[in-house]
Amino acid sequence: MTKALYLEDSYLRECDAVVTSVKDGKYVVLDQTIFYPKGGGQPFDTGKIISGGEVYSVVYVGKFSGEISHEVDRPALKPGESVHLVLDWERRYRLMRSHTAAHLFASLLCNGTGALVTGNQLETDKVRFDFSLEQFDPTVLEQYLKQTNELLKKDTPVKSYELPREEALKIPGVVKMAEAFPPDIPSLRIVELVDLDKQADGGTHVKNLLEVGQIKLLKTENKGKNNRRIYFALTP
Ligand SMILES: [Zn+2]
Repeated sequence: MTKALYLEDSYLRECDAVVTSVKDGKYVVLDQTIFYPKGGGQPFDTGKIISGGEVYSVVYVGKFSGEISHEVDRPALKPGESVHLVLDWERRYRLMRSHTAAHLFASLLCNGTGALVTGNQLETDKVRFDFSLEQFDPTVLEQYLKQTNELLKKDTPVKSYELPREEALKIPGVVKMAEAFPPDIPSLRIVELVDLDKQADGGTHVKNLLEVGQIKLLKTENKGKNNRRIYFALTP
């Protein structure tokens, strides 16, 4: 299994790795990686795989039956080859900042209203966030956004660690997604916004809320029934 270094240290921009398998010439599995695979509403990372002076662009990263597969722009990489990985760091860092902002907003909204997250999609320029909530009141959402911005001005460390599933599920509000977790995960990765929130989460975050900056509301939408949607973005 590929070692997912981005879970231990989301600030790694480069690392060495060894190719463990290659499928159809272009789908490369490595012993370890810094590339985040598409999932949990966070896009895959882009960047480069370098080997013997050849530079391959990483055009897609996905997780397939537990393995992280890197699609490169052309065939040639071989199993056993030593490679160097370089992330498109500017793009990833923006995603880390907007993910952390979305995470804080979700925790405030869900803890404050009992809403559940039904979907979220990070993009490099905006965050889309879907949740179930009986009342649709844009001013309430604006208030939560304002509260998010207030907290983003405070020096608050963000930590992550693994907890055994049973222990993790005892934390109130640890699961904010409407969908239940798959039953076969023995431990959960907890992301803690210190003194504010603990949430089961596999995404990449910044180390301190101060790194996020501020966010601005783009729009809110009433999708009928209990379905609400909000778009927001980092202010530069
Ligand atoms: Zn998160």
